[in-house]
Amino acid sequence: MQTADRTKKIASGTRGVVYKEALRVQAEGNKVLKMNTGNPAAFGFPVPESLKKAIADAVQKAAAYSESTGAKEAKEAILAYDLSKGFKNISEKDIYLGNGVSELAEMVCTALLNPGDEVLCPCPNYNLWSNSVLLAEGKPVFYECFEDRKWMPDAEEIESHISDRTKAIVIINPNNPTGALYSDELLKNIAEVAKRHSLVIFADEIYDRLLMDGAKHTSMAALAPDQPVLTFNGLSKSHIVCGFRCGWMTASGFTDEEGENFKTVLETLSSVRLCSNTFAQYCVPAALADPAYTVEMMSPGGRLYERREATVNAVNDSEYLSVIKNTGALYCFVRIDPERVHIKDGNDKQFAMELVRDKHIMVVPGSGFDYPKPNYFRIVMLPEPEELAKAVHEIDDFCRTYDEKHYR
Ligand code: PLP
Repeated sequence: MQTADRTKKIASGTRGVVYKEALRVQAEGNKVLKMNTGNPAAFGFPVPESLKKAIADAVQKAAAYSESTGAKEAKEAILAYDLSKGFKNISEKDIYLGNGVSELAEMVCTALLNPGDEVLCPCPNYNLWSNSVLLAEGKPVFYECFEDRKWMPDAEEIESHISDRTKAIVIINPNNPTGALYSDELLKNIAEVAKRHSLVIFADEIYDRLLMDGAKHTSMAALAPDQPVLTFNGLSKSHIVCGFRCGWMTASGFTDEEGENFKTVLETLSSVRLCSNTFAQYCVPAALADPAYTVEMMSPGGRLYERREATVNAVNDSEYLSVIKNTGALYCFVRIDPERVHIKDGNDKQFAMELVRDKHIMVVPGSGFDYPKPNYFRIVMLPEPEELAKAVHEIDDFCRTYDEKHYR
């Protein structure tokens, strides 16, 4: 039996070979600090009480399939949320619930791409997006996010990658893995590029509520109301329910005939899989009515804020590592000094596997985010602050001995 060619380039960044090595080391009886996925409940973050109640109340009705694109009460809450963020000319019909943003990313790529069509993806990139493009037999084409510009991309650089096969641009804001939050000016410039070339924007805004330091998030759809934008959001991170698989997308600006056809295809694809997890859907109204949980977590004294502080401070105290402090999400993308630690091109996974074996710490190397430079890895800021600081210290220590082990 032969597997389909389209699967050959698919690889999970967060649950790939380094993760398998971490599980192997763990099976040998070691305690491994696994910082591979942004999975807060796995680190003991409690589910908000409001959601626990919503789940309990929904037991009977959640036993039935919902409408394929989502239950009315979930859509009403999402519509109100989107309107509060400045979306224009949308209705419940433009909202599609999914088993996480993950399912919807695949769905939109299936709906939009013919073999060989191109989608612009950030580099580094949460590789759900490149994998979804590849599964639809499309081609991810990467645009750069620049470390020396606090990991911002550049609209002109993005435009330089556009060909006659380009159909969409993925914007992850706030970003995974860098935690960067994009300025309105940058978003507007990117929207203009998309408009000039008739591209759909895939705006992955799953971290829009995970903000620190007084930062405010602007939705791409609010800045570009007259052009096609698919905005992705969900409860996985803001409400600690990754396992519920609760995501949604809103189609704004799909006003012409092609746009209407596209939405009909999304409806058909939603119907083929009947509906998304209904428990998760019935949590949406309660969750969106309870922003306080997330705000508290991201404020001084809050769980994620204090973890971010501990991580960044520890990196700043280290000898071999540096980082751009993140204002959003729960990640930072750490640089290993390439002048002092000589990881060869293509060897970042090897570095991460040795780190798991030596220090029992798992991080995802840059290549897990389609990043070509070998001296980067992502930290998930979910362990206790002291544990995070200790892990950073251990990684720094591992860097100290790396060249000695490999070159002497
Ligand atoms: N988009 C981004 C940028 C993510 O970081 C993640 C998960 O880490 C997802 C989408 C997937 O989210 P979901 O749990 O809704 O599938």
